[in-house]
Amino acid sequence: MKKILIMGCTQEISSFNPAPCRYDFFEIYRADEVRKFNTGRNSYIGGAIEELNKIPNLECIYTYHAEGSASGPLEHSAFLKIVEEFLEPIKKYSDNVDGAYISLHGAMGTTEELDPEGYLLEEVRKILGNKIPIVISLDLHGILTSKMLENVNGVVSLHTYPHVDFSDTGRRAAKMLKKIIIDGVTPVAARVKIPAIVRGNELITETGLFGEQIRYAKNISSDKEVLSAGFLISNPFTDVPELCSQSYVFTDGDRNLASTSALRMATDFWPNRSKLQGNFVSLTKSVSLGSTMKGPIAFTDAADAPSSGAPGDSNAILVEMVKQSYPHSVLGSVVDPKAVEIANENEIGNQVKISVGGLLDSRHSPLELDWEIISHSNSPFILERWAFKQDPGPSAVLKSGSITLVVMTNPVIQVDRSVYFANGLDPRDFHSTIVKSPHCEPEFFDDWVEENFNVDAPGSTSANLPTLGHVNCQRPMYPLDLDADFNPVVEFFSR
Ligand SMILES: [Zn+2]
Repeated sequence: MKKILIMGCTQEISSFNPAPCRYDFFEIYRADEVRKFNTGRNSYIGGAIEELNKIPNLECIYTYHAEGSASGPLEHSAFLKIVEEFLEPIKKYSDNVDGAYISLHGAMGTTEELDPEGYLLEEVRKILGNKIPIVISLDLHGILTSKMLENVNGVVSLHTYPHVDFSDTGRRAAKMLKKIIIDGVTPVAARVKIPAIVRGNELITETGLFGEQIRYAKNISSDKEVLSAGFLISNPFTDVPELCSQSYVFTDGDRNLASTSALRMATDFWPNRSKLQGNFVSLTKSVSLGSTMKGPIAFTDAADAPSSGAPGDSNAILVEMVKQSYPHSVLGSVVDPKAVEIANENEIGNQVKISVGGLLDSRHSPLELDWEIISHSNSPFILERWAFKQDPGPSAVLKSGSITLVVMTNPVIQVDRSVYFANGLDPRDFHSTIVKSPHCEPEFFDDWVEENFNVDAPGSTSANLPTLGHVNCQRPMYPLDLDADFNPVVEFFSR
């Protein structure tokens, strides 16, 4: 009977979010809870379970999964606690296991450690020793460091943006692990780092320029000798030394095939770098244009996207709307624990003066208005498409004139409409909705709105990358340095 360990530690951060993240921001699943939560869900581990269950005489052992939504940098002490909890259950299997699958995001960062996933994998490797194969899965925005590559036998990553192929990616990780453990393949990896960070509509894999690299990676994956292939664009807000875009290919011992394929993806990507950047409408112009339009309209505020690691406390678009006396109904959300507290001290129907927003990120100033308390809530929810539990904590719906606002204690991912549905609100009932995510699946907004303005608002996850102030990432780096040069170098990794 072969035994496979299954575990995960997933989070991405924005180094530019001033609010550090604590341990209690994570959902922790232990032992069989990992299986129970993921079985049948569109999650990495869910897909891996499905695939591994097909293999006869193989047992999955579930140990631990710390799942953190995107946030500011993780407090280092919280990270060390997670590492300890992660490693502890592995110890008893160190002599009695045939492989490990670890679900990672790849864009973590703590207040002290700039390669947390590398650190974690090195510690796992110390326990499991050199012979046990480890395969990891990563988000497309992951930062695959040398230390990570040195400690694993295989890597797979998402092939979609906006992301939909979580379980498919988990299945690919399981297949790769099976090939190593049962078929005896010997993985060799080639990767090519590209000094560019990117953002914007051309990254949408279905319709954008970046789709070329992904289609190439998928095509070569059908080659019998290729064990996995992918392209990581990294999370440009995770300001760490190894931040960059990169291609990688794992083959069964064929260095030449791995290297030519990784090089091809990297050199095809580089000339597109200037097109793979944000395309914005200014704050004032988007609001004044929206005022004249029939609607419905989406105002994308990617600069305050909790899914990219922002605190969710921006009121920048609302402030501009108030300033311009925006004439239409608006639906928005703001993280503001103080505003929630005041709302919860009041009964439904009360009128209260409350400041909203600008509590965490000093780029924004509080907006004080007279609000009617519409409702109170405090219940976690699951996203429309993603199998991630979101816990906004105590929340309330406030209304002031034509503005309806969900105020919450904790940031939640807004890649869809679930934050509004969870509060009994439907964006389709409003002229304008503020969407704090760079991109959503088209059906959530784009398919039915008249216009979706990509607003150039201030914030810690602004797609206007040179405004952020990177200090740790390698330089030169496009577009922080417009004259950055690319001299392709292939690095090989094998165990
Ligand atoms: Zn991502």
